[in-house]
Formats: sequence, C-alpha cells, structure tokens
Amino acid sequence: MRYISTRGGASPQTFTDILLEGLAPDGGLYMPQAVPRFTAAELDRMRGLDYADLAFEIVSRFAPEWDATDLRACVRRAYSAARFGDVAITPLHTLEPDLHLLRLSNGPTLAFKDVAMQLLGELFESLLVRRGEGLNILGATSGDTGSAAEYAMRGKRGVRVFMLSPEGRMSPFQAAQMYSLQDANIHNIAIRGVFDDCQDIVKLIGADAPFKARHQIGTVNSINWARVAAQVVYYFRGWFAATTRNDQSVSFAVPSGNFGNIYAGWVARAMGLPVRRLIVATNENNVLEEFFRTGRYRVRDAAEVHYTSSPSMDISKSSNFERYMFDMVDADPARLRELWSAIDRTGAFDISGTPLFDAVRASGFVAGASTHADRLDTIRRVDARHGMVIDPHTANAVATGLRLREPDERLLCLETALPAKFADTIREALGHDPDRPSGYDRIESLPQRVTVLDADAAQVRRYIEEHAQ
Ligand SMILES: *Cc1c(COP(=O)(O)O)cnc(C)c1O
Repeated sequence: MRYISTRGGASPQTFTDILLEGLAPDGGLYMPQAVPRFTAAELDRMRGLDYADLAFEIVSRFAPEWDATDLRACVRRAYSAARFGDVAITPLHTLEPDLHLLRLSNGPTLAFKDVAMQLLGELFESLLVRRGEGLNILGATSGDTGSAAEYAMRGKRGVRVFMLSPEGRMSPFQAAQMYSLQDANIHNIAIRGVFDDCQDIVKLIGADAPFKARHQIGTVNSINWARVAAQVVYYFRGWFAATTRNDQSVSFAVPSGNFGNIYAGWVARAMGLPVRRLIVATNENNVLEEFFRTGRYRVRDAAEVHYTSSPSMDISKSSNFERYMFDMVDADPARLRELWSAIDRTGAFDISGTPLFDAVRASGFVAGASTHADRLDTIRRVDARHGMVIDPHTANAVATGLRLREPDERLLCLETALPAKFADTIREALGHDPDRPSGYDRIESLPQRVTVLDADAAQVRRYIEEHAQ
C-alpha cells in the first residue's frame, strides 16, 4: 500500500511516511494507489465487531506496515466508551423505519471531527515516541477544528499544540472548551483580531521553511489521509446497524463543507459497502451543490462566503473535493492538473456537457442546499415529530435528505454536532435552550488558560520559540 499525489509529482510513500505531513510537495493531496476491497465473507465477519475492532480492520488495510499490536492499542484507546460516552461510539438513532440519524457527536468536543482526531492523536504519539521526535502543531481556528485537535493531542508525548483563535469572537461555550484545558502541551493563543488574521499568521509562519524545520512545525488539517481512513469506519458501522443482511443497501445524507466526511463514504463504497447514494447537503455556501447540479465548480472569494447558522460548513472551496475528481479522471494526474490550473487561472472549471460530467452524474452523488429558514423548519419538525433536538449542521442533512429521498430508500442522516454548541439557533427555532450533556453544564466558569497576543506574526513566532519543544 503506497500513497501518491493527485498532482503526480511525489514518489510513492507509506501511510507512516505521510501521517505527519500536510499537502504533498507538489501541492496535491495524498491518495492510496489502490483502495482495498472487502470480500462478502469478510463483511459477514465484520458485522459482529465492536467499534475499535472494526476500526482496526479498516485502518490496518491502509497502514499495513504499522505494527498490528500497536495499532490495536491505538484504536482501543481512541474508541472507548469513556471518551465517547457510549459503547457504540457512533450509535444509530432510528427516527422512523428506514430513517435514521448516525450520531457522530459524542466525543469530547461534541462534534464529528473528534471521531477521526481522537485516533490521529494516538497515531501521532505512537509514531513520535517510536522515532524519538517532537512535533509542534500550529493551527488557526474559529471553533470546531481547533478544539477537536486540542482534545485529541492533550497530554500526548512528543506533541505540543499552538492554536490561534480570534479573541472574543467565538461563542462563550466554544472559548471555554478550548481555554479551560490545563494540559501543559496545549497553548491557546487568542489573537487581537479576526479569524483571517489568525489564518494569515499561520500561513506566514508556514511559508518560513527554515523556521518550520528548526521548530518541527506541523499541522492537523482536513486533508490528512488518516482522517479520511478513520471516518470510513462509521460508514460501515452505520450500515451494519441499519441492516440485517449484506445485500441491503443504504444512502447517507452528509452535511458537507470541505468534503472530508462524505468523501470517506465514497471510499467506504469503493471498499465494498453497498451504498445506494451519497447525498451532499450544503448550506447557503453551495460550491458543492452547484457542481453536482451544473458541472461547474467555482470557488468563492472571501467576500462571497455567507456567515450562516451552520458555521462549520461556511467554506469558499472544498479541499477534499480534489480527491474525488482524481478518482473521476481515473487517477490521471495530468487531467487533474488541467482542472486545477483552470481554478488557479479563472477561479473555476466547467465540465458540463462532457463525458466526465456524465461519469460524475453516474457516480452515485446527489446534492441539495438548505437555507436558514429550512434549517429552523427542520429543527422544529424533527423535534415535533420525533421528540429530538438536532443541531443546525445536522438539520442541513435531514432537510436535503428528506427532500431528495426516493421510495424504499434506507436513509442515514449524519449528525455532526450536538445542539448544545449552537444555543442561539436552537432558541430561535424552538424558543428554549438546548440541553447540555452532563459534565458541560458549568464549562464557562472553569478557570481558563490563554495567552493574548497582537495580530503580529513576530509575536507569535517569539512565543513559539519560547515554548516549542
Ligand atoms: C467540519 C464540519 C462539517 C463539514 O464536514 P466536511 O468534512 O468539511 O465536509 C459539518 N458539520 C460540522 C459540525 C463540522 O464540524
């Protein structure tokens, strides 16, 4: 099993080689040369496995060189009832026959990014300890990703996290989640500015190769293949939970932004999971919906991004989408480069009316976009009909999933966050606050640990020099 770049300019690498890297050196994304496929007999056997054992079966196919005993220990630590509050890790909640929520939000930060990030934390520590190396993770966050990374890396040997966030611009709950961490290896840096200032500083420091090398600076971003591999697991898990036999197919409706979550569903299907359709659900930032509807993929500039009530899906372009298009052009890096150079030149590519778009249409994806009003309406409807409060991201999936659902289709809508994180929208929809899971009721009053700096890369650089390992 070797990994190559979508742009064709990197020599084949192992899973272990690429684990700590971001983009390939040629600017592409790493892809396995071939996706392993499970036989019917293997699927039968996997049906009875618990989450950690299932994760081992799947992730080990992508990382065959990783010591099996160590990988088993990693998945056991990552996927425990203690960390996810439920032995099922990603339990299936049935709303009515053939309509389910696959609940991915039981991890420490109450959002689906925990599922992959918790495993990443274990793999990073294992690899760094084995190599006797250290890693300083530098990132910028407006909420979800940063906190999932901090909760995955807290207390891990060999890892320090430097997470930049805009001072005073996250919800009190989100800020408290991050800033209340007291682990010595977690450094919260609140920047006097907005999220873009944080991201600019990370980019500036990231472009300084000597500084990066000197301080072993790395990132945790959504294009890491290990995250995709970890996310494949809950697609299998959801299918096993919603069916009794291997000839029964399901469809998944997925609240999408960077296309990482739903891309894992596509990989699961390539591995033998009987997926009928993958339903891409976007909010007003409909880059993906527009592409699957028209064949035109047009990235947005910052001024065009809508700030919505499902903020973790507010994107201008979809980074993992490049992986899907690489599959669609039959892994031909020259064709992929053509498409992406059109994006660089004109901000878009258009394959409408071509055989390539016919292939996209036949690939099993459909897409729909929802508005704020749709989400409010869906939150009210699910509450009234099923007595369950869903968050605004999940509401995008339920709204689009129900709208596009075909007769006799078994539909799993992916729940990507708990409503407790988005109290304002829940209050607007239902007139009352969402419940908080136990253990989170007084999070805002816990002592906080955060350093405030100006929006100045030099100050951040100095802070890293003083605190990096
Ligand atoms: C990140 C995120 C998404 C979008 O997932 P992608 O993998 O970027 O498509 C949806 N919902 C929530 C709550 C998220 O945090």
